[in-house]
Amino acid sequence: MNKHDLLKKHFGYDSFRPLQEQIINDVLAHKDLMVVMPTGGGKSMCFQLPSLMLEGVTLVISPLIALMKDQVDSLRANGITAGYFNSSQVGTEQQEMLQLLKEHQLKLLYVAPESIQLLLHHLKPTDVSLIAIDEAHCISTWGHDFRPAYTQLAYLKKSFPQAGLIALTATADRATRADIKMQLAISHAQEYVASFDRPNLTLEVRPGNDRLAQVRRFLKKYKDESGIIYCLSRKSCEKLAEKLSSLGFSVAAYHAGLEHRFRESVQEQFIKDEIKIVCATIAFGMGIDKSNVRFVIHYNMPKNIEGYYQEIGRAGRDGIDAHALLFHSYADMIQLRNFAGDSGNSDVQIAKLERMKQFAEALTCRRRMLLSYFNEYLEKDCGNCDVCLNKPDFFNATLIAQKALSAVYRMKENASLNLLIDVLRGAQNATVLESGFQSIKTYGAGREISWNNWQQYIIQMINQGLLEIAFHEYNHLKLTPQAQAVLFENQSVELAVIPKPEELAARQKKAADESLPSTINKDLYAGLRKLRMQIATQENLAPYMVFSDATLKDIASRIPLTIDEFEDITGVGKHKLDSYGETFLNLTAGYNMMRDGDFTYRIVVAKPKKKKKSNGPKKDTVMESVELYWEGKTIEEISEMRTLKTDTILTHLGKRYVSHKDVNLDAHISSDDLKEIEPLYKSYQQENALKPIFEHFNGKYSYGKLRLAMYLIEATTTE
Ligand code: ADP
Ligand code: MG
Repeated sequence: MNKHDLLKKHFGYDSFRPLQEQIINDVLAHKDLMVVMPTGGGKSMCFQLPSLMLEGVTLVISPLIALMKDQVDSLRANGITAGYFNSSQVGTEQQEMLQLLKEHQLKLLYVAPESIQLLLHHLKPTDVSLIAIDEAHCISTWGHDFRPAYTQLAYLKKSFPQAGLIALTATADRATRADIKMQLAISHAQEYVASFDRPNLTLEVRPGNDRLAQVRRFLKKYKDESGIIYCLSRKSCEKLAEKLSSLGFSVAAYHAGLEHRFRESVQEQFIKDEIKIVCATIAFGMGIDKSNVRFVIHYNMPKNIEGYYQEIGRAGRDGIDAHALLFHSYADMIQLRNFAGDSGNSDVQIAKLERMKQFAEALTCRRRMLLSYFNEYLEKDCGNCDVCLNKPDFFNATLIAQKALSAVYRMKENASLNLLIDVLRGAQNATVLESGFQSIKTYGAGREISWNNWQQYIIQMINQGLLEIAFHEYNHLKLTPQAQAVLFENQSVELAVIPKPEELAARQKKAADESLPSTINKDLYAGLRKLRMQIATQENLAPYMVFSDATLKDIASRIPLTIDEFEDITGVGKHKLDSYGETFLNLTAGYNMMRDGDFTYRIVVAKPKKKKKSNGPKKDTVMESVELYWEGKTIEEISEMRTLKTDTILTHLGKRYVSHKDVNLDAHISSDDLKEIEPLYKSYQQENALKPIFEHFNGKYSYGKLRLAMYLIEATTTE
């Protein structure tokens, strides 16, 4: 089989991503290589695919013991024989792996760097055809994540001289690359540096006011999707996770201060979609190959652009839209500056932080700026960052600027941003009164502008170089030479119009509505996700290992009805076609019937692969209705066939839902209905009667609907 056939057969993809094919050709020719690709760029393919075409085993060195099992599970789900070897395994498990290795039954073996010595005794030089060193920056003390165990890897080239060695990392820096090659004794290795552009990531920066409320609104748009929220400190991770959890989100905190076992379980549950959101410090994320992370939020400002880019790269690995949101606050800047000031190479760190700040404040295309940091230059604006998407309108703000600058001048450049705003707005708080600034001429000169708008205007003025923050002088604002020109030579100033909150909300709503393109049948997509979850639970896999979001979206827009059509879907290889094809086709067939017929009941049928044992009699009346429903019959049709009332059928479905959760009732009762009914249900619960509720709503809801609501409310309150 050639490499294109293997790509389709095992991974379900039709084409290679940029550079993958050239790299694979070189790997197959046993060349040593240094590969730099952004996070999510598709590095693993560069050694996984050739491993299938080479004689012996491919060793993959990876620093992340906790994630090896996932990586191996993913490969196995694609029908590839893979194993791992690390210190988390008990002796018998290790023996088992060694046995498989001896019998030449493994194409890939993942090994922790600490365990490599142990393994060497069991390998003849000719057994190994390829060595892949993932996260290779860990070998260099110049990289940002040095691991001492990686320095043992220099022996690999000596032990297996005939095997090709491929080092892979997302760290772009040239000096680090040279160091990696030297340490691995592959100085001659050709370098491949892929583009760092990840066009599917929407980049957005917002001012950090009222962050919690902003995050809440944002999360509404990404209901039921996976995401990471990076926070600066351990405490803020925990606090944010607690708040979001009390608001009903599925969320956990993760940081290095938590007990090891707890952390592993959070990671595992996140990978399996059992926890949707993780509030984490930067300790979280390296090596998590979860492809369906839909958003990354930086609740606080990152220290530098390298870190920021790696973190946002964890979103949207499947290549479909994902959102990177950064909150920008001056308080964070000040804190980070203090951290940087305390460290050894503070100059470098402060300079890097400064670049980060410039990125956050940019009024031009953010992606161009970001990529220029990695020495990559886009020809055009990207069209997928907040600046490109909402080019601000500017207005003549000379008078506003003069008021602010004159206040700074009269306060003798001895006030911070907050105090300046208070003085402009004529506030009477203790800080103002103690400062004595209530007597200056500009005190209260800017009452007509809200506090938040002042803040944004002044930040813009800082960005334009009219004001400077003196970090070493209590963050006081200072005038620049340009400010003098505005104050004394009447030079004009333009500032961007600040959108009104309702405009922002409308824009966000619009974005939310557009988050699934119109080609995707939304209720089918929802049904597919449920089915994926069922299968993942049955097989103890992470949902994305069953199928990625990209695959489900492709199904939901093309609605395949035959095996041939299904095979054509992106991400469907031979192995997965055999394992899941039929189950998914059942669902699309059911959906297709609905579409052709009754539009009011666009029910998604999620028929479980293996029928669960039912406790009751072999075929009870509930199951009869449920099975007809699964077959795609409408409530009316079932009612007619069984000569039962439609309300009774609804009750059957409700019962089944409560016990097994495998019928989709969204088409029959909405969450708004439930919200309306719930308080009444509670107040009449004692009487156990529906009549008063029925009467209360004047017949708006049928008895069947109310009974259904009752089941659902009970199910959710007892969960
Ligand atoms: P990283 O470079 O961060 O290690 P991965 O190897 O984890 O990235 O790949 C990221 C995602 O891209 C995975 O979900 C993988 O299946 C997918 N991918 C890799 N190659 C291709 C391809 N040629 N076509 C489509 N998707 C691909
Ligand atoms: Mg990787």
